[in-house]
Amino acid sequence: MKPFFIYNTLSRTVEEFVPLKPGVVTLYSCGPTVYLPQHLGNMRTYLCTDTLKRALRLNGYQVRHVMNITDVGHMTSDQDAGEDKIEKTARAEGRSPREVADYYTQLFIRDLEMLRIERPTVPPGQFCRATDHIADMIALIQRILDRGYAYVVGSGVYFDVEKWRGPGAKGRLSRQSLEEQYSEQRLEHASDKRSKHDFALWVLNQPHHLMQWDSPWGRGYPGWHIECSAMSMKYLGETLDIHTGGLDHIPIHHENEIAQSESATGRPFVRYFVHYAFLVGMEGAKISKSSGKFPVLTDLIAAGIDPMAFRLFCLGAKYRSELAFSLDAVRAAQTNFEYFTEFARSMPPDACSAPDSGWTQSYFNRFIDSLNNDLNTPQALAVTLELIGESYRRKDRCVWSTLTKMDSVLGLGMEEIRRQAASQTLPTEIEALRAERDQARQKKDFRRSDELRRELQARGYEVKDTPSGTVLQPRR
Ligand SMILES: [Zn+2]
Repeated sequence: MKPFFIYNTLSRTVEEFVPLKPGVVTLYSCGPTVYLPQHLGNMRTYLCTDTLKRALRLNGYQVRHVMNITDVGHMTSDQDAGEDKIEKTARAEGRSPREVADYYTQLFIRDLEMLRIERPTVPPGQFCRATDHIADMIALIQRILDRGYAYVVGSGVYFDVEKWRGPGAKGRLSRQSLEEQYSEQRLEHASDKRSKHDFALWVLNQPHHLMQWDSPWGRGYPGWHIECSAMSMKYLGETLDIHTGGLDHIPIHHENEIAQSESATGRPFVRYFVHYAFLVGMEGAKISKSSGKFPVLTDLIAAGIDPMAFRLFCLGAKYRSELAFSLDAVRAAQTNFEYFTEFARSMPPDACSAPDSGWTQSYFNRFIDSLNNDLNTPQALAVTLELIGESYRRKDRCVWSTLTKMDSVLGLGMEEIRRQAASQTLPTEIEALRAERDQARQKKDFRRSDELRRELQARGYEVKDTPSGTVLQPRR
């Protein structure tokens, strides 16, 4: 196994990744709050996790991955202020919170599938809903209370942040003091909590809140942060190998997850925190037809863009770099995607089953080295394109096994594209015209070749010239 390096926000350095248990990686990712369609910036973070998972798997690891769905307790401000996001949408749309959560969860899963993002593996293929884990959250809150890091007052159970951190201590991830961490945010509601820095584990005495459960402290609902600690530790153990999320999670949500988990267990919660940079410039794209401010995947599809082009666009930047969104940039990625699909469609069947030529090995080594160097996807992508170029140049198509291994990380579905194309056998007379056109091109009889192109187009085919000959696609 080659060493795999990744940037750990805890140490702020690129570190060699070594899992707690050899060969197995425990991975937790903060999932969506399901009250709106997920915009493309959100989808970039899920794509980053998907790529990380796939890269670890290519390195031979088994990846135990858990992702949550927040369907209660996430207030319009990350600091417990404002309204519950799900309930706000429910009231605005005249639906129950459950209906809102179900609806936006389905949209989320549909977008994941269109982007070929794999589902979590623990529990197999399932997302963990917060509302299905209320008992786990209550049990964890009780452990925190028992160890003296939380207290109960009339408005809820709060985590005692100053007691946990110690006087003047800085956050482990944010490296900010509590004052620095909260200086830019005005706390909207005064309450009976001991300090403005304390955050809610369980909210009490909010009779207008639609979703409520019984607890040892009275009827109420969980705070937002506790679900991630409860669900990750339930399925993956008290110390996780990797925890992922967007950069925006660093100062509050992930600091709070660490505080909750470590105060309850007395053990380190996470060994590697991996954070993704933002997709920026979406406001200027002006293609959003949904209610949100930012474009969503279906906006791209309506603009004639394949979801795989967005996938390639994201792979073209490092996960730690901000990525500037523009329709032109995504369209450029679509051109790359067409280059991939054309190669897959024109694969001769015998070359797919033949062993790969020796020269492909160095490309594969460079590919895996790029990934293992802090998930350098732009470089890995460039190596893949070079492999295809070299295959054309050498007129040697014995590359399929290498290419599909690379695609197990890129996730473009190359084998599916090839099979689909191979199963579309052309009618005999069309195949004859295609073969005649290839002969004409070989003889440089371009007049005849153009006549045959027009003939094929008139019969409903798109005609593409590839280095391996004429490729036909029935027009949709
Ligand atoms: Zn979380």
